[in-house]
Amino acid sequence: MFPLRDVTPQRRIITTLVKNWGDHKPDLKIDFNNHCAYCHSYDGFRHTWFEVDHFVPKVFFAPLGNISLTQYDNLVYSCKFCNNNKHNKWPSKSETIFNNGIEGFEDPGTQLYESHFYRTTNGAIMWKTPLGKWMYTEAFKFDQRERGIRLLWNLNQLRITIKKLDPIVSNLTPSDPNYLRLYSQLSRFAIEYFRYHDQLIEYYSSL
Ligand SMILES: [Zn+2]
Repeated sequence: MFPLRDVTPQRRIITTLVKNWGDHKPDLKIDFNNHCAYCHSYDGFRHTWFEVDHFVPKVFFAPLGNISLTQYDNLVYSCKFCNNNKHNKWPSKSETIFNNGIEGFEDPGTQLYESHFYRTTNGAIMWKTPLGKWMYTEAFKFDQRERGIRLLWNLNQLRITIKKLDPIVSNLTPSDPNYLRLYSQLSRFAIEYFRYHDQLIEYYSSL
């Protein structure tokens, strides 16, 4: 069992006025560590494009004008699957009430969000609180997206491992006593990466 996210994202305090909320995307990409705030899929795999989500949905802010729509502390870096599924859902109907413990949302820019979920050893997401269950099934539909979420997580774990191991192996000479062992480990990871990548392409073309 793992935490849902490797690193808890933290929004900086950004008060710069921008024309469109999309102008904050580069800042959000940094603050959310290149991962979807909700399902933690990595944005480097081109299949998943990323969007700017309004944590409290736009409909509650629209009457106040454009400035609140671009308010940084309400913006979230989100993959299009999480963003589309979340859409305008906001059970409390009040912008100041995020949830009632059973229904609603937790700001993904906090560690509190993580307390509702965990990651299984095969990379799937599971809920661990009633509110987590609601977000899991009603809001983000993690259950219906399980295969994609698992493939993305495993692919990303392999990418991180290969990135660490590759420079180590490259710096060894074939006469080094560790060379063969590490080289064969790296090859195994690379083959696995290739297979997960292929499965991901197949998965996305089947949607
Ligand atoms: Zn997502």
